[in-house]
Amino acid sequence: MRIEIVAVGTELLLGQIADTNSQWLGEHLAAAGVSSHFHQAVGDNSERIVLALRTALARSDGVIVCGGLGPTHDDITREAIAEVMTVPLDRDEHIVEWLRSVFATRGRAMPDANLRQADVPRGAAVIPQTIGTAPGLVCSVGHKVIYAVPGVPYEMAEMFERGILPDLRRRMAEASETNGVIASRVIRTWGMSESGLADALAGRIAELDAGAATETGSVDHAGSGPTIAFLASGIEGIKVRVTVRAADVAAASALLDEEERHIRSILEGSAGDVVFGVDDEAIENAVAEALLQGHLTVGLAESLTGGLAASRLVNVSGASRWFRGSVVSYASEVKVSLLGVPEGPVVTEGAAQAMAEGAKRVLGSDVGLSITGVAGPDPQDGCEPGTVFVGLARPGHPATAVRFAVPGDRHRVRQYATIAALDFLRRTVKGDLTT
Ligand code: ATP
Repeated sequence: MRIEIVAVGTELLLGQIADTNSQWLGEHLAAAGVSSHFHQAVGDNSERIVLALRTALARSDGVIVCGGLGPTHDDITREAIAEVMTVPLDRDEHIVEWLRSVFATRGRAMPDANLRQADVPRGAAVIPQTIGTAPGLVCSVGHKVIYAVPGVPYEMAEMFERGILPDLRRRMAEASETNGVIASRVIRTWGMSESGLADALAGRIAELDAGAATETGSVDHAGSGPTIAFLASGIEGIKVRVTVRAADVAAASALLDEEERHIRSILEGSAGDVVFGVDDEAIENAVAEALLQGHLTVGLAESLTGGLAASRLVNVSGASRWFRGSVVSYASEVKVSLLGVPEGPVVTEGAAQAMAEGAKRVLGSDVGLSITGVAGPDPQDGCEPGTVFVGLARPGHPATAVRFAVPGDRHRVRQYATIAALDFLRRTVKGDLTT
């Protein structure tokens, strides 16, 4: 079954609010095994809402339209649905009574405008409200369906679970469709470009495409997949999203596990340890895991990142077990007097190494990590903005440092420098554990 989402509201088109309802619905439809090929956003304009609904019905089995069910003149979703159904609107006296009682309990007289919320396209079923005042609608159009829910996100979500999902399940059962689930997993990488990842995984993608062609085609069909997509996430690296459809959550999870293993081993073989986590696992979680495995504590010396790296590390609950602290050594004199960096330029490999040693000593940690560089906009010590040195001092090894060239303005350079440094720490500690 294919469901299209139509979000109604001129504020969506003007960019005044983000369409989080469609995002939420997309996620929850997928979890219920319902495909969604199109999302539309349309303003509060009758002709265009009618067009959006007709377009959706022409290419999908049903529509969820959210927003425009309020009491004001620009709430015209009910009228648009009635037009698409070619039926009149009937005033439902039960809803009128219920609306009056809602206002009475709030100690207010009901404005006449709210009567519009009791108008129901002839033949439609009502999803009663439990939180707000706009009832939802289930409107059969031939063998297809339009569900209408309010735009207020928590009202929409509650009505979806209570009024839409059970109806969708019933329709799918009647059509003898297996529900199943569509599930995704995001494999998170740092250190490879999107095209580099695509090159590395091209063989696997071709294999999966060939398999899909001989089986069922795509994740839109029961039991199909996996499919692979790439999502560039800027300072959070590049994500590889794997999507499968399976009979239930356990089967989907097994398919995702298997594909994750494949992808990890391909990437490991072609580019080394570029995968740092899956789904919500951020780089700081990966750092925590590596340090805990190695029974190590870390202390930082941060210059251009000004505490950003420390701030990310303390996102992890229980960080005090392995995180000692951070010296924000922004001025050169602090690097020299507190961390023991030799006098001279401070955006160099040597300065980064000395900062890491200094952090380790001052903070009493097993490992010292340092970040120095040029955030911009002006060059410093003969280095262009975006030049970053990350230093690392750890037990049993001489201090090391690596140089990165990171893109963007001052804000992005500082963010990139942070994740690059944390990734360097993660890889090195993990590498030590395996040698
Ligand atoms: P109400 O009964 O409150 O009038 P409604 O169905 O008329 O409900 P709208 O007036 O379209 O809903 O939207 C109400 C509020 O819900 C908006 O001001 C906005 O804050 C939020 N909202 C509407 N649509 C969306 C959307 N697609 N994504 C996120 N928030 C939304």
